[in-house]
Amino acid sequence: MASAANTTIVVTGAGGFIGGALVADLRKRGVTSIRAVDIKPVDHWYQRFDDVENLSLDLNAAKNCETASQGATEVYNLAANMGGMGFIEHNKALCMLSVLINTQMLQASLKCGVQRFFYSSSACVYNADKQREFGTVSLKEEDAYPALAEDGYGWEKLFSERMCRHFREDFGLETRVARFHNVYGPWGTWYGGREKAPAAICRKVVEAKLKGKHEIEIWGTGEQTRSFMFIDDCIKGIDLIFRSQIHEPINLGSGEAVSINGLVDIVEDIAGIRLNRKYDLGAPKGVNGRNSDNTLIQHYLHWEPDTTLREGLEKTYAWIHDQFVARERGDAGVLHEAVTSTH
Ligand code: NAD
Repeated sequence: MASAANTTIVVTGAGGFIGGALVADLRKRGVTSIRAVDIKPVDHWYQRFDDVENLSLDLNAAKNCETASQGATEVYNLAANMGGMGFIEHNKALCMLSVLINTQMLQASLKCGVQRFFYSSSACVYNADKQREFGTVSLKEEDAYPALAEDGYGWEKLFSERMCRHFREDFGLETRVARFHNVYGPWGTWYGGREKAPAAICRKVVEAKLKGKHEIEIWGTGEQTRSFMFIDDCIKGIDLIFRSQIHEPINLGSGEAVSINGLVDIVEDIAGIRLNRKYDLGAPKGVNGRNSDNTLIQHYLHWEPDTTLREGLEKTYAWIHDQFVARERGDAGVLHEAVTSTH
């Protein structure tokens, strides 16, 4: 099905957080033939653009993957069933079923003559034994093996990474794989159960401030450490890795580790408020310590995600604040606002 006229760039998961931001960025960079695909109805996408081909398709089905890949030169596969710790701990089978999306998108890409394929993996592939300590545990790419990934979601990511590798080695499809470490920013999920820590904490602080209930619930002891990458850095990193000759999965994450308590400190500072902290020790909290070791990305690309946490959180807090206020007003459509073709 390959054709000399192939020019289209496909983004799957385009109705979600990172996929939506990637489509926005491709448009800004002047790409004119973009196909955006997501299982959600188009009017539920976080960002959507009327000059893009927007398709609502379930990519668990092989025929839909072929429809999505027709005439494409490049595919960015960001579609997956995912969420924060609360979601992935309670939906392991659903997370593992995302293997269907990646496998069928690889097969369809091969059939349709796609030249390059991007897969969004995760820091959840790393061996849990290396993340037992609190404090800064920086994970190098080699720390994924011997394998003991996050149950469910992490195993699917690890398997799909290898599927990408073998499609490249055996079938000649150029695949690139980035291991994202927690991404946050405007236009991300901020309520409903799939949100991750930065968005959840911003929302809780906004709510406490606006409703005058000066209390916040924190999952676990708050001592667990993570790093958080601002969405703009994620999008820049995807582009650099996609165009590179880096064949092995590579970390794409901030190296600025922070404890969850430290994250709350920063958001409280931004909001100009102090809250009483209540710790829910029974809530899902994930591994104790995880940070991105950026030696390899520095070596290959002379760059690493560099937006400071404070700077990124200021933008995210402001956005969630506005979303919260609009939602309280009963303006339920605000998260799914359509964005018109103005660049
Ligand atoms: P998201 O949930 O906002 O977006 C994923 C999108 O995929 C959703 O809009 C969802 O509707 C869509 N999708 C799910 N099943 C589908 C199907 N069967 N067919 C078509 N579309 C389907 O998540 P995100 O944060 O934008 O994540 C994008 C990718 O990056 C995912 O692969 C995720 O695992 C990976 N990742 C994200 C993070 C992060 O911190 N956000 C960290 C590590 C890895």
